[in-house]
Amino acid sequence: MVKKGSSWRWAIALGLVAALSGAGLVAAAPDVLRAALGYRVAIDLVVTSQLSPRVLALLKSEVDRIWAPYGIAFAWNGAGEDVEERRRLAIADSETDRPQASAAHTALAWIWFESLTRPGHEIQASVDAARRLVGAVKLGGRSPKAFPGIEETLLGRALGRSVAHEVGHFLLASPHHSDAGLMRVLFLPDDLLRFDEDDYALNPAEQRSLTTRTGPRPTSGSGDPLGN
Ligand SMILES: [Zn+2]
Repeated sequence: MVKKGSSWRWAIALGLVAALSGAGLVAAAPDVLRAALGYRVAIDLVVTSQLSPRVLALLKSEVDRIWAPYGIAFAWNGAGEDVEERRRLAIADSETDRPQASAAHTALAWIWFESLTRPGHEIQASVDAARRLVGAVKLGGRSPKAFPGIEETLLGRALGRSVAHEVGHFLLASPHHSDAGLMRVLFLPDDLLRFDEDDYALNPAEQRSLTTRTGPRPTSGSGDPLGN
């Protein structure tokens, strides 16, 4: 919590650790909602960093694929789209307005809360912080910088997955974290080397919270749509 101006704001940031701690992250149950109708969220992207079109495309595709199982569809810079919600995503090199980092964690992306249940309208992401996470990855003992194409891929994943996590804070309207899955507090460098759907899943309680906030939607699967 950081005091800024005349009101308290809650900084909810995705942490990262630069060291390969080997900490095991227990996968959440792979409960999946397959909504036939999407809940549409417009994201107005404001990029002040020199990111390549490929990195931006990767960022968007990571967010899309993490949220697609829950029936959330994104309209990127979709002016005039018929959407349920609209948020701004600011991507910058610098880390202005970033929440204070602890000794072990520094924020990759963050969203400010106006109160415990009122997320703000802007997600911010730091390219510098994402590059540091990518720089902590080791590929056969070598830095990703030795492989420019791979470095770019990892940067897109780092940004996309951290933004997907922050999207979770506003869609769930909660600053809370879970032990595993998308809403875990820490992503490790090695997480960038793989995509396991369980590592980016919502747990059953989070799925119920999402449904409460966005409304029930028809699902294509049979049985309990919440996967309980
Ligand atoms: Zn968080």
